[in-house]
Amino acid sequence: MRQTSIFRIDLTEIEGEGEFPCPRCGEIISPEDFTDLLYEIIDIEMKEDDSLEEILLLCKECGSVIHLVGFEALEQIGDSDDFDGLLDNSGEVLLAWILRDEGS
Ligand SMILES: [Zn+2]
Repeated sequence: MRQTSIFRIDLTEIEGEGEFPCPRCGEIISPEDFTDLLYEIIDIEMKEDDSLEEILLLCKECGSVIHLVGFEALEQIGDSDDFDGLLDNSGEVLLAWILRDEGS
């Protein structure tokens, strides 16, 4: 039986456009991959106010479960006037995953 590992990825700590290597097997997990071949979204957790709390992914390569967190940061940036800041840093990464969620 394959052992399941559970990891937690804070999206605000990722650079680039939202892709990151699986912490266990190194497979690149990208929000632009809609094929469900490398990974699959297995659950989405919402907060009481309907904002996104976390996305749970299953890496199909190694069977790890990965929790994507950090979505609160987007709310905080969205509430501020610093819209350029939103585009500059983690906002893009978070948006990419939110859109991935909506597209699946
Ligand atoms: Zn993996």
